This record gives sequence, C-alpha cells and structure tokens, in this order.
Amino acid sequence: MNNKVIFVMIDGLNYTVAISRMGYMMHLVENKLAWLYLVKTELPTLSKPLYEVIMTGTPSYINGITNNMIVRRSHEKSIFEIARVNGLKTAAAAYYWFSELYNKVPFDYVNDRELYNEDMNIQYGKYYFDDSYADSHLFIDGEILRRKFNPDFLLIHPMGIDNIGHKFGGNSKEYKLKANEIDNILSIFIDTWLKDGYKIIVTADHGMTENFNHGGTEDDERTVPLWIIGENVDTVKDIEIPQLCIAPTICKMLGLKKSEKMINFILPGLRL
Ligand SMILES: [Zn+2]
Repeated sequence: MNNKVIFVMIDGLNYTVAISRMGYMMHLVENKLAWLYLVKTELPTLSKPLYEVIMTGTPSYINGITNNMIVRRSHEKSIFEIARVNGLKTAAAAYYWFSELYNKVPFDYVNDRELYNEDMNIQYGKYYFDDSYADSHLFIDGEILRRKFNPDFLLIHPMGIDNIGHKFGGNSKEYKLKANEIDNILSIFIDTWLKDGYKIIVTADHGMTENFNHGGTEDDERTVPLWIIGENVDTVKDIEIPQLCIAPTICKMLGLKKSEKMINFILPGLRL
C-alpha cells in the first residue's frame, strides 16, 4: 500500500525565524518525532518559480517559469500529474497560481474557487486569490478536502507569513508572531494526520529579507526549513539539502517513480 503525504508549503518563511519561533515543530525535533533540514532554495527566490521548482523538481532555466508574471500551465511533469496518472488521489488548498500551473488558465474567480475534477492534475482543489486570506481558514480548507476525499497527496499552502513579511520585513515582531501562529495551527492538525496514516513534510518556498522582500540570494531569503514527520529517518543534524530533491523525495514517499528530469537525490537519512 502506498503511503499518503501531506505537504505543507508555508509561503515566505525563512529558516532563522522558523527555528527560533516555532516551538511546537522544534519540540517534535527535540523528541525525534520530526527531522529538520536546511533547504538552500533554487533561484530566483520568487513564489511562482519556486512552486514550479518544488512541484516538478526542475530548475527555472529548464521549466521556463522564471518570474511571477508568467501565466501559463507548467510544461513539466509535476508530483500532482505523476500521482494522478498512477491512480492516486490529489488535492490542494492553495493560492490560485497552483491551479493555473497544474490545472487550467486563466483562473476563474467564481468557478475555480472550488474545483473538483478527477481528470485534472489537482483533482480536488480549493484556491484563494487574496494574499491576506487567513491561514486558519486555509488549513480548514485543506482539512475539509482531506476528510471528504481522503487524498493520497494533499498540498496545504498558507500565504500569511509572506504577506506580513512584505509589510513589516522578515525580522519584524509582526513576522515572528505570524510564525508563532502557524506553529500553533500545525500543532492542532499534525497528531490527527499522523493517526490517519499520513507522512508530513513542512517547508517553505523561499524566505524573506528585513527589507520586506525576496528575489535575491541573501541567506534570509534563500534558506528555509524542511521538517519531515512520520517517516523513519537516521539521525540528521544541520544538513543542507537542495530544493530540487523535494519532488523526487515525495515521489518516493508516495511509492511512485520520479520523472526523468528530477534529480537522483532524496532526503539524506530517510529510510524508505
Ligand atoms: Zn512574497
């Protein structure tokens, strides 16, 4: 039987604030229930390019999603597509760019807000388009999809931290409070997800600088955390991993063959 995976991708969460402000996640790490890695993201450190990097395991110069203004479907094989073609169920509670990349363009604000179609790569989707959409509501959107459709692969993608980072900067008290908030939300769901047989990855697409932005190569925009929970992992500490290894790792966790373009590298220490 294949494993089921919940993939939480927190938009705009930098490594430093994640490990200093997310006490619940670090409690899991301290007790060897979660394993923490440091991800060095691909470039550019922008949202849409990195959604595509994470979901297809290909860099921007190959996949062509080089900035946020490109509005078209992905040309690459995504985790969603590989899972669907192999008979697994896919779902996402995510920003509407995910529907545009992997389902259809342009996004229809009324009809695509909730989009259920088993022929689409993301078969069960709830999408938001307001960057200030509450993370609490977004996680409930994901939980509704999980309980209703029992997906094998579920993406949950909150935007709250990125949104606050653009207003106050990645070293502000507002940004740090938001990291606490998301840590609290995760503490509500993770136990239930584990009991229901899910493996969980929590990471971020990119970080945030203290100058209210991202897009460059500085550490605070380019280093993000990755926690894996519910898998057998040999002890790892301070391991830096490339972002391109996330897609092949998730394929492996789902019991699927990675695409040809994905790199031959999964999370170090992961026993699968
Ligand atoms: Zn942003």
